[in-house]
Amino acid sequence: MAAARITVFNTLTMQKEPLVPTREGKVGIYVCGPTVYSYVHIGNARTFTSFDVVVRYLRYRGLDVTYVRNYTDVDDKIIHAAHETGEDPIHLAARFVDAFREDARALHLLEPDVSPKVSDHIPDIIAIIGKLVAHGVAYESQGDVYFQVSRYPEYAKLSKRHLDELRAGERVQPGEQKREPLDFALWKAAKPGEPAWDSPWGRGRPGWHIECSAMSARYLGESFDVHGGGLDLIFPHHENEIAQSEAAFHKPFAQYWMHCGFLDLEGAKMSKSLGNVVRLRDALQRVDPEALRYFLLSTHYRNPLSFSDKSLADAEARLEYFYETLSKVDARIAGRDFGKGPLHGEPGRFRTEFEAAMDDDFNVPGGMAALSGLFAEMNELTDKPPVKDKALVGRTLQALREDVRRISSVLGVFEDAPEAWLLRRRDRAVRERGIDVGQVEALIGERNAARAAKDFARADQLRVQMKGLGVDIMDTAQGTTWKVTPA
Ligand code: AMP
Ligand code: ZN
Repeated sequence: MAAARITVFNTLTMQKEPLVPTREGKVGIYVCGPTVYSYVHIGNARTFTSFDVVVRYLRYRGLDVTYVRNYTDVDDKIIHAAHETGEDPIHLAARFVDAFREDARALHLLEPDVSPKVSDHIPDIIAIIGKLVAHGVAYESQGDVYFQVSRYPEYAKLSKRHLDELRAGERVQPGEQKREPLDFALWKAAKPGEPAWDSPWGRGRPGWHIECSAMSARYLGESFDVHGGGLDLIFPHHENEIAQSEAAFHKPFAQYWMHCGFLDLEGAKMSKSLGNVVRLRDALQRVDPEALRYFLLSTHYRNPLSFSDKSLADAEARLEYFYETLSKVDARIAGRDFGKGPLHGEPGRFRTEFEAAMDDDFNVPGGMAALSGLFAEMNELTDKPPVKDKALVGRTLQALREDVRRISSVLGVFEDAPEAWLLRRRDRAVRERGIDVGQVEALIGERNAARAAKDFARADQLRVQMKGLGVDIMDTAQGTTWKVTPA
């Protein structure tokens, strides 16, 4: 079976394990989504992009994936932000859901199969809390309901923390009605000006963790395959989800826990609450969205990733190389029939290498290395073919181009028409460097005239003059084109 080839690093066991879905051929995956009190930052985007590729790859391998990513639209931070703007909290959250959707589309993130919101699932949440109270693992106290951690013996199995140490670090805060410091809120009694719903314990709203137990059970079942999020969620969020779900349903919750490493700003921790953030929306304005995506995927998802302007510029330059190659290859093969017959070398080996890397805990950088090999091969076949047989070269290029398409569908990059991407990139560089396009075109016209008149000295002079303006000239079979000199 396809999935058995894929191994996943499971935070629960701290080792790579073969991915064996509970129901053959089907994978349910739940990823903790954004808390919609503001625009998401590029750290959030890293986590969502990593799981986007996980989902795409599982599908590529033929698995029938149900992908659920929630919106946390009931939360202290949302209430706080809404008080500042004077808006209704649910309205403010809806506004940021829309903003997130827009940014996600720009970053080529797939729309999950289900994107549930907390505010639409209050009855599910109340039902689970009711079960926990009935089982004696949760208790009501002055309109709040708490999960009693000491009643769930497996607590901290995900984070491997020691309960004694955790207890030593916790205090019951003033205003909290807990029995023990580690107990956490499932339901919070209504305070004036906060969104609230009726419940068996009076009006109130859910605590943070219970939402994911409720929404994952609703869409994936009480036991499901993969649960993901950023590293910071292991404790307490995911730990508490496990405790709630397993204590309510008496079944193992998620089989595989995947956690994405943090993105920081050249060594500085980034968090929305500290304010040291780069919004995804702003980054998308500054750089090509595919380049940002390529950068976010450039390091293995479990390793830390450092963001800088240089790393983005490097990603964009790399994409330019890829698109230039594709443009050249497309010009060579588009609409041509090279007939049937053998291929040169073993063009399929790059895709095999890509799959081997991806099967190994979604090693995207390893996959990208295979892709680099594939592009190098395409360049060699177009620029200095090692064999004379044009049909053989054409067929091989077609096979390689097709494999690029398949790999692109997994990575979510190079899906654009090469010419269109290259022109957009050039337009952006022209604007950034203040290049006068009219002047460039006039000089190219002059140079073409000089070449037609066989005045090559003048043509060369004009090339040098354009270089001085920051413009490189390329003479191709389709005529003379130009690009902005790389910075
Ligand atoms: P939040 O909106 O804060 O709940 O975060 C949404 C998702 O982004 C969660 O899975 C977080 O773990 C993840 N996340 C938050 N900050 C970062 C970061 N700097 N790098 C990577 N992932 C992050
Ligand atoms: Zn969650």
